[in-house]
Amino acid sequence: QQSMPLQRLESKSVCPYCGTGCGVIIEHDGQQITGVRGDPDHPANFGQLCSKGSTLHLSCHGDDRAREPLRRDRSDGHWTALSWSEALAQMASTWAEIIHRQGPQAVALYVSGQLPTEDYYVANKLAKGFIGSNHIDTNSRLCMASAVSGYKSSLGMDSVPCAYEDLEETHCLFIVGANVAYAHPILFRRIEAAKLRRPELKIIVADPRRTPTASLADIYLPLQPGTDVALFHGMLHILIWEDLIDRKFIAEHTEGWDALKAQVQHYTPRWVAETCHIAINDLRAAAQAFGAAPSVLSLWCQGLNQSSHGTDKNVSLINLHLATGQIGRPGAGPFSLTGQPNAMGGRETGGMPALLPGHREVANPEHRTEMAALWGISSIHPQPGYTAVPLFQAVERGEIASIWISCTNPVLSMPEQQQVQRALQRARLVILQDSYLDTETADYSDLLLPAASWGEREALVTNSERRISHLHPAVPAPGTARPDWMIYRDFAYVLGAALDQIQHPLPDQLDDSWYARARRMFDFSDTVSIFREYQQCTRGRDLDISGLDFGILDSQGPQQWPFPAGAQSGQSRLYSDGIFPTPSGRARFRAPEFMGVAEEIDAQYPLRLTTGRLRDQWHSMSRTGKVAALFASDEEAFLEIHPEDAQRLKLKNADLAWVSSRRGRNVLRVRVQKDLQPGLVFAPMHFGRRFAPAALCNQLTLPAIDPVSGEPEFKHSAVRIEAALFP
Ligand code: SF4
Repeated sequence: QQSMPLQRLESKSVCPYCGTGCGVIIEHDGQQITGVRGDPDHPANFGQLCSKGSTLHLSCHGDDRAREPLRRDRSDGHWTALSWSEALAQMASTWAEIIHRQGPQAVALYVSGQLPTEDYYVANKLAKGFIGSNHIDTNSRLCMASAVSGYKSSLGMDSVPCAYEDLEETHCLFIVGANVAYAHPILFRRIEAAKLRRPELKIIVADPRRTPTASLADIYLPLQPGTDVALFHGMLHILIWEDLIDRKFIAEHTEGWDALKAQVQHYTPRWVAETCHIAINDLRAAAQAFGAAPSVLSLWCQGLNQSSHGTDKNVSLINLHLATGQIGRPGAGPFSLTGQPNAMGGRETGGMPALLPGHREVANPEHRTEMAALWGISSIHPQPGYTAVPLFQAVERGEIASIWISCTNPVLSMPEQQQVQRALQRARLVILQDSYLDTETADYSDLLLPAASWGEREALVTNSERRISHLHPAVPAPGTARPDWMIYRDFAYVLGAALDQIQHPLPDQLDDSWYARARRMFDFSDTVSIFREYQQCTRGRDLDISGLDFGILDSQGPQQWPFPAGAQSGQSRLYSDGIFPTPSGRARFRAPEFMGVAEEIDAQYPLRLTTGRLRDQWHSMSRTGKVAALFASDEEAFLEIHPEDAQRLKLKNADLAWVSSRRGRNVLRVRVQKDLQPGLVFAPMHFGRRFAPAALCNQLTLPAIDPVSGEPEFKHSAVRIEAALFP
């Protein structure tokens, strides 16, 4: 018998890891993904892929893929398969009863920056529009919420004003709190190429660790963790003193200058240098380079955002751009990088507890009225829901009885993991929707819903530069796994029927029944039908994409928003006209005071722990953990420590050490590393129980959050280190 030749097929997609959003061509045979290569036409990467992206095909078809709904017996942890209708019926009867007895605010969704835009939109509509609970947050809370609040506070909207091509155009690159070389490797290659082509390109890197990103720096500022606001105010002080500010831009396009100017008077170079633990000459050189360059682009990521004062850090950095008119021009602007592939899409569709689609706010009555009209409901609950840390605290208190977690692993990724574990144990029903069975969160879940993964479904995502890409499906999902939006849609139908059965009253007379309402609100047959509805939510807003369609994305390639009706292409840069989306049309200087970190070191916990990413791993390693080659550089969890501290603690390379904080303690292997400051230690965030049973670094981190953004302070916890002596 002659075997059929294998088909060689290709589908265009985007890498599902970081917010760079590199275009990928998936090679497949219609059933299995067999290879990947960079898409030469995608404007994020022009064909390049990093170590993670180029091994994507090795992570797709593992044994731990979820193929059918499963129910876990809490007494023995045993999983039993059930049909989709059984799973949805069990969920719906529990949620209907909770909603009936405790109200809609007693259920919550926790989603992910890895969900595509259409999933985010449907999940948000389900929670806020259909159920009436604003308790829907996302793991993007853990990476870019402070950038959202910073942009909104200073510029009026959460709109990243820059484009990747600014990396090639800028005269001065200020990289602060971002290890671009590891977290956004392809952007780093673009920076390397720009520096090679134009050695006069000035690069300033500010980071407590001398990371590989600092290898390109002309000026490196090894600032003390948490002192960023002091650094930015100190730089502004010097810019004013040396008359390197743009008075015309300040006068014509900003407000609040006098208050900020008065405040930064006190941030003298000497005081700032001492506070930040940097050389005063380096501080001056950085400020002078920033002030003298024809164009300045700032890049930042978690180093500013993951802080109990993350919003203050964001607005203080944006102040520097407003004071020097470095915004809205080629090569200029404050450019926050998103950590995840669709963190931006989540922001656009309102996938956070205080937001509604189209950059609208729950707290704004006009915005609620607009969205209620678009969704065909009478009202939206006026109170923003809980952000991630308070959300899991509310679950532990029993105020939220059930939580539905999609495409994320909070037991590993949230600060103070022990609290999340307690919360999930207390919850009446924990639903986990994921593509993988073997995660730390699955251990605490009651129901597991199998979701289609990357390459198995159509999707839209938006990368860090506001660029929307269309991802084509390549192969079928395993078993009965299906796209997340479809699960939310089908659940709405079944929940509607369950609410009718227990005669839960509708909040208005707009439909005959909950079921009829569900059918009307979730009349989605495919990705296009969801996109068309979401488009209506953006019309007339700053992120208007009413002129975009899938045909344009496929024929002209990925496009940046806004793309209003009649536009020929997306818009590279925002605010080129100097008009900002604030009531006055002016950008706002903000003047926060420097506040320090939430948990200072003391005699008991005398070292500072900071956490972060490795080059070759992604989040909790459900994908990258399957690829042997990605363990070549770092094969296990570790603790970096400065030689002076290591010597004092009698530790040497490869020793095991206890790392203790007020939350817990674990064991990590020591790496003596001179690129850290004395007093600072570093642990990677990725390793979970499958790879390092005793090394979960978020057992140590604290749940302090920024009061505005709700983002946790992953970048600083007070710890103690002791040699771990085992017999
Ligand atoms: Fe994927 Fe980011 Fe690497 Fe690009 S840089 S290939 S998006 S991980």
